[in-house]
Amino acid sequence: MRSLFSQSLAVAALVSAAALLSAQQAPKPKPEDTDVFEPVPPIITPGATNTDPPSDAIVLFDGKNLDQWVSAQDHTPAQWFVADGIITVNKAQGVGNIETKRRFHDYQLHIEWKIPTDITGSGQARGNSGVFLASTGPNDDGYELQVLDSYNNTTYVNGQAGAIYKQGIPLANPARKPGEWESYDVVWTAPTFNADGSLKTPAYATVFFNGVLVQNHFELKGQTLNVGTPFYKAFDGAPIKLQAHGDKSEPISYRNIWVRELK
Ligand code: MG
Repeated sequence: MRSLFSQSLAVAALVSAAALLSAQQAPKPKPEDTDVFEPVPPIITPGATNTDPPSDAIVLFDGKNLDQWVSAQDHTPAQWFVADGIITVNKAQGVGNIETKRRFHDYQLHIEWKIPTDITGSGQARGNSGVFLASTGPNDDGYELQVLDSYNNTTYVNGQAGAIYKQGIPLANPARKPGEWESYDVVWTAPTFNADGSLKTPAYATVFFNGVLVQNHFELKGQTLNVGTPFYKAFDGAPIKLQAHGDKSEPISYRNIWVRELK
């Protein structure tokens, strides 16, 4: 009777021989094994510069009018000011926020904003506005990417420019001084909900502020709130909203707003 050791050796030899045979028979991988030819990406004509809308963008403001916007309160025509190719916030009592007529799910957004050179005030009361990446109701209901004069202006860090308001501290502060145009480039992944209204997948925001990454696939905890703990409330598609903040500082301006739907 053979020893257990010699039996093991025999089994090992058989396994090695089988592995060698299998290696000899398997075709050698070729580069073309992993070449993929579809789906073919759509051909898009880029803008003249990287801040101009590409050919598949929906232009939300091209310097001429507010045809794409309505009052967030009652959906009547937007009453903010348009002159010299820019929108300026109308902070008069009763005017309020404006939002797009269109509703969006996931998208890429470009928007430019400017704090006026004569800005006054401090903290949250200095050039406060906001881009609600999804507007889920009147007033400030929704998911706000903060707009504020953050050039030599101290405030709570989860409320400075580039913050997902009271949730996401920006990774850097690349704010330009008042009078200079600033830009946000955003990738927004909308939250999704189950049939019973419970959260299926959270919202994510990636934000470049003047070309600098300030939010990196940031997972939101729900709607942005000034007071209390954020929570999710089911919705399916939402307008983009701009904030007329109630502080007394001089109104800020917006221009060159476009969006590319991602689904
Ligand atoms: Mg704000």
